[in-house]
Amino acid sequence: MISRIIDENSIHRLKTYLDDAEKIVVTCHVAPDGDAIGSSLAAMHVFSALGKDVKIVTPDAFLSNLRTLPGAKEIIDGTKYPEFAAQLFAEADLIICLDFNEPRRAGRLQELLTSATAPKVLIDHHLDPSDFADVTISHPDLCSTCFLLFRVLCRLELFNFIDRNAAECLLAGMMTDTGNFSYNASDPEIYIVVAELLKKNADKERLYRDLFNTFSLNCMRLNSYAILKKLEVFREYGAALIVLSREELNRFHYTKGDTEGLVNRPLSIPGVKFSIFMREETDMVKVSARSVGSFPVNLLCSDYFNGGGHLNAAGGELTCSLEEAADSFRTNLKEIARKYSQYK
Ligand code: 5GP
Ligand code: MN
Repeated sequence: MISRIIDENSIHRLKTYLDDAEKIVVTCHVAPDGDAIGSSLAAMHVFSALGKDVKIVTPDAFLSNLRTLPGAKEIIDGTKYPEFAAQLFAEADLIICLDFNEPRRAGRLQELLTSATAPKVLIDHHLDPSDFADVTISHPDLCSTCFLLFRVLCRLELFNFIDRNAAECLLAGMMTDTGNFSYNASDPEIYIVVAELLKKNADKERLYRDLFNTFSLNCMRLNSYAILKKLEVFREYGAALIVLSREELNRFHYTKGDTEGLVNRPLSIPGVKFSIFMREETDMVKVSARSVGSFPVNLLCSDYFNGGGHLNAAGGELTCSLEEAADSFRTNLKEIARKYSQYK
């Protein structure tokens, strides 16, 4: 048995909204990852089985390695189809927000989300959810939104509606948010849920191959180049930095997702406590940060990169040039090391 951590009132109110809804819009955060897409698809599979008309609208395109998840073809990209997205939000009876904690993280859908009149339910595991939803089910202590959604579905007495497709999507999110159960995955209840999903025939081996071990040649070469030529290690500060410019990305025909996981690599070096990856985008510098132990990259990202996230995985955005972003990080390293010196 897994423990009951979700309060009864939230479940009751969610159930009432679900019973009353015919048209449901499910949405998630920008640059949707495996947990965002996995939870959205699982919600679609289960609520569709209840006879609801469920549409997933994402703020922008999701990573290509998620394409093989059951139902992924039905996802509507709100950047590609803004008018259709607007119509769906306006006509929805219920909006389910998954894997993000504030409307800003819905990117281009922020305005549609905040102005929609339908009730909103937030199911999420990021810290400090803002108060924009009618029901907020937030558990930052859990490894993934998929893990939380499984628990929500059980509490709604919908366990039997989780079919093989839904199970596979839930497992995908749990795997991707924990690096295939290598971090943030010490809660024994995770494995109880994994066992239940395997009993529903989720194909863990195929998921691993598709989600973690499928790379194009260009992608492999880009990542090898980044490690060989662009990795800087600042041993005295336990820090690592990788910076990739537009020109470098173009040289390897970069497509979205090609640098997924790159920021984690320097953490394998003994003594490296936190790792920063800066990628030049058309209108900003995207920053990804990862750490080991209790080094708080969420604080680092909110203090220096206009961002936030989890203790060991966070990110942010800068509007300056790539060189300025990298130089200011190098300059600030001493201050950063001092500021967070109490965290080991
Ligand atoms: P990634 O490095 O994979 O893009 O992001 C890792 C985590 O950092 C995300 O799950 C999210 O919680 C957080 N994150 C990434 N980018 C941003 C950002 O621009 N703002 C905030 N607040 N959090 C971010
Ligand atoms: Mn997540």
